Amino acid sequence: MLKKTLLAASLATLSLSSASAFAIENVDLLIKNGQILTMDREKTIFDNGLIAIRDNKIVAVTDGSDINEYKSVKTIDADGDIVMPGLINTHTHASMTVFRSLADDVPDRLHRYIFPLEKKLVSREMVRIGAQLGNVEMVKGGVTTYADMYYFEDEVAKTVDQIGMRAILGETIIQFPVASAKTPEDGIKYAEKLIHEYKDHPRITMAFAPHGPYTNSTETLQTIAKLSMKYDVPVMMHLAESDREREVIAKRSGGLSPVKYMESIGALNENLVAAHVIDANEEDIAILKKYDVGIAHNMSANIKSAKGVSPALQMFNDGLRIGLGTDGPMSGNTLSTIDEFNQVAKVHKLVNKDRAAMPPKNVIEMATIGAARALHMEDKVGSLEVGKLADVIVIDTKAPNMVPVYNPYSALVYSAYATNVKHTIVDGKVIMENRNVLTVNEDSIRKEALQFADKVRQTVIESGEIVQ
Ligand SMILES: [Zn+2]
Repeated sequence: MLKKTLLAASLATLSLSSASAFAIENVDLLIKNGQILTMDREKTIFDNGLIAIRDNKIVAVTDGSDINEYKSVKTIDADGDIVMPGLINTHTHASMTVFRSLADDVPDRLHRYIFPLEKKLVSREMVRIGAQLGNVEMVKGGVTTYADMYYFEDEVAKTVDQIGMRAILGETIIQFPVASAKTPEDGIKYAEKLIHEYKDHPRITMAFAPHGPYTNSTETLQTIAKLSMKYDVPVMMHLAESDREREVIAKRSGGLSPVKYMESIGALNENLVAAHVIDANEEDIAILKKYDVGIAHNMSANIKSAKGVSPALQMFNDGLRIGLGTDGPMSGNTLSTIDEFNQVAKVHKLVNKDRAAMPPKNVIEMATIGAARALHMEDKVGSLEVGKLADVIVIDTKAPNMVPVYNPYSALVYSAYATNVKHTIVDGKVIMENRNVLTVNEDSIRKEALQFADKVRQTVIESGEIVQ
């Protein structure tokens, strides 16, 4: 497949250069003078390269010597900045931005705090307001595609459509009553309805999102696995995340690990994207690889919750489909994967006592093409190659924290801030230019979120719960 793409790319270049004396190619967007990290199989870098985009696709990625062969509606002069594939956040709950920074250090927070809070406050309005804010944060942090798990995902879809991002949106299914469904069966029906409604959407894929193996029955997990194969849609789920999960599953299954239990009930397949996967031994990892399961690695959320460090280094080295995720903004607490880079590189070095472990190039791979593989989208996004969808970001290398750039991967992983993202392009459309989001009104989104935060504050105070 990749070879074919490369062949097509070289043929395209050949035909262009032979025709160059006679024809100028019309394109919609040119990005010139960029240090282009293609993230293709060879990790090709063009130091002063050019990307040409027509409609929503990349039609050329070159060393820039052919610049006179293109006539473009719009041109971005990257002026030496880093140009790279849009980042892909493989696991989040974007709407939870409105709960960000509440009860950050409360032990057993999910069951003691988050679930009760959500029972009081989750609504269509909350989901919309939170997702709008999350989307703006992600676009400003260079995220062009994200995988979301929450309730009322049709509300999230509307916000994704509006801002112009790409997303996989999984309706959460859980064993207790929630705002969008009284029972897990209702949750499954809700997800099925959205899957049908959005099946032809160019940028949005609807999915199932069972919360976890321990928060759903065996029957529910089996039904979802079968339906995901029937509709060929992703299943996103927290897996092998906590001690509580291990205990519940061991009791239910006669001592199996969460991964082995999922295998034993027939719920592992290539549609599954498993978030966290902290509690996995070599055998579990081999099983996940065998079923071609995608892995969302959420370092900052995992270390903040003190749940442990995922064996992501081994999973990456073993060739599993693994990408970076931020988890929800109550966990991570930011939604830009740039904030993960540093921690991913450093914590794997620390726990493996190996300075050479998890080099920056591998971290950037997990944020781009690796994340695309985790979501089974690698044929469409994740690298800058001819024929792929045009999701591209430009990183400012003139910011003081980025000067100088000897190694672009190192600069991105160890020095970059999310605020260094200068332009964000999704599906060939510039949706952020010079840090101005063009498709939505950032100020009104922030104001609406702050108004909702007053409601959250009031609810927390009335319930006598801890604010700090
Ligand atoms: Zn999560």
